Amino acid sequence: MSESLLQVEGLKKYFSISKDQSVKSVDDISLFIKKGETFGLVGESGSGKSTLGKTVVGLQAPTEGKIIYNGVDVASLNKKEKSIVNREMQIIFQDPYASLNPRMRVGDIIAEGIDAHGLAKGKERQERIYDLLDRVGLVPEHAKRYSHEFSGGQRQRIGIARALAVQPKFIVADEPIAALDVSIQAQVVNLLEDLKETEGLTYLFIAHDLSMVKHISDRIGVMYLGKMMELASSDDLFAEPLHPYTQALLSAIPVADPRAKKRERIVLAGDPPSPVNPPSGCRFRTRCPHAMSICSEAAPVWKEVRSNHWTACHLYN
Ligand code: SF4
Repeated sequence: MSESLLQVEGLKKYFSISKDQSVKSVDDISLFIKKGETFGLVGESGSGKSTLGKTVVGLQAPTEGKIIYNGVDVASLNKKEKSIVNREMQIIFQDPYASLNPRMRVGDIIAEGIDAHGLAKGKERQERIYDLLDRVGLVPEHAKRYSHEFSGGQRQRIGIARALAVQPKFIVADEPIAALDVSIQAQVVNLLEDLKETEGLTYLFIAHDLSMVKHISDRIGVMYLGKMMELASSDDLFAEPLHPYTQALLSAIPVADPRAKKRERIVLAGDPPSPVNPPSGCRFRTRCPHAMSICSEAAPVWKEVRSNHWTACHLYN
């Protein structure tokens, strides 16, 4: 196994909403992401996947647990070391409309990180901006324009150039194509895949449905109500989903090839319960077609059921 670039151990992120109530957005998650890997993270809205992404890049402080980057616990870093890690870990947001300052020219948006980290000045700064625009499929003259003059796909390219400007090693792509037209989604995914090779990047790619991450992810984690339900290689997860939640998510994906074996559609009852008061035992039990009495009594153990294929479900305990 190649070395881990990122490891999280027992990570929790709770948001307090009253004196004695909190939203358990991320609740005791452990995982590692290897150097050069694309790790897909999937879950419905409210599953905690974006909170996990923001917490690992340091936009939010964890409530508990460790974030280990390049073998070092980020909590142990001094200010200077933290600034280097902050530069190496970048995030691309879902909404390219909201994440770009409308009053700034695109060149200055892209150069924000270059300026903040003092990476280049004057002519060199300008050349870097042009080079970054070129790498994401835009042209130098776009540097003078404002973000509202661009289409959604182009704005996402600007967001990607901004992230690349500080020479990152690890990028959290937080639903980077969800707000784009279907016709443009593939272009942005292809760009991210190409950049992974040319820039030597590692990705945590967050999406709300499995079909979006299938082709680009080496491994996939499935989250539900703040917990990881299943984690496996992309191939294994699609060939043999173990957790009833993953099985339901997969059954909802339309099969394009009429010769391919069709999965029986599993319709989940109701919406996910509130993460303020998650169900006892297994968090998925209120919607699980296989729920048994033990499922409300005890939380299933996170277990390696097949080689490198993990899940938490009493069907396998
Ligand atoms: Fe369903 Fe029980 Fe497994 Fe949870 S532990 S997924 S309720 S069978």
